[in-house]
Amino acid sequence: MYLIKVALGRAVVLATLCITAGNAARRMPPSVCGRVWKVNSVVTDLKARIMKWETKTTDEMPARGVDTYSVYGPMTSGKSAVLMRLMQAGIPCVTATYYYVGDSISTRDPEAHTQRILADVVVGGRKPWAMQFQDILRERALDARAAGRRVITVLPDEFQFPTTGEANTFMRIAQRVATRYGIRVAVVFFHLDLDSDGRLFSGTEAIRSFLLLQSYRLKAKCPCGKPAPFTGRYGRLSGKRLFDQDQVVVDGTPDIIYDPTCEEHWDEDLPPEVLEALSRG
Ligand SMILES: [Zn+2]
Repeated sequence: MYLIKVALGRAVVLATLCITAGNAARRMPPSVCGRVWKVNSVVTDLKARIMKWETKTTDEMPARGVDTYSVYGPMTSGKSAVLMRLMQAGIPCVTATYYYVGDSISTRDPEAHTQRILADVVVGGRKPWAMQFQDILRERALDARAAGRRVITVLPDEFQFPTTGEANTFMRIAQRVATRYGIRVAVVFFHLDLDSDGRLFSGTEAIRSFLLLQSYRLKAKCPCGKPAPFTGRYGRLSGKRLFDQDQVVVDGTPDIIYDPTCEEHWDEDLPPEVLEALSRG
């Protein structure tokens, strides 16, 4: 009996050592927490929160001020679906997109969005975007008041990219317009939370420092089928998981490809069939 116990003990120690050795080579995924929302529930909840201002009397709630929300998650988690559905929901809104200036690649096609929105502002870059944003918000605030409405909605997209200074300027303008024109401004930030190395983006850090009324976390799906809280960067030809490169390499760059990943497959290469499907698509 004693011999068996010793043997078992050794087996356990050996197994533990093996697992430890295996893990040492792995890059551990960051920890994430918080309730995961579905696209439909986010749209319903946000619509109700934004529209409540139109139905309350001034006595019940102060009309002016800024309400801030955040919709975030990895790539392909449904952020754009929420944004499009809000634009189609009959809520008059202004969108603001951040264009990454370094290689002058826009992160989405503004033409696809212009039909249903009142104005589109490009944040960042060399253009005097802050003045333009303030002018547009001021016009929308006056239009809303003339029409007897009490709230205007701003939907900034790709807001992981702005610097802290740009994000703070953006919020200050919304607050200034709300105060000066006696209107409620609902700002819903759409953004990635983590980069492909698992670090927060500058814009995301800034958004988290604002007083958020509600944060909606979305998840995508890993190729294995499990919920994916992360976005992995891979070589387009090799499928190799890439770490420690520049933080911003915009999707569409020839050598790389992005795909959502679960915790288990966080540091693994893409399976050949997934790589093939992504390269085709
Ligand atoms: Zn997986």
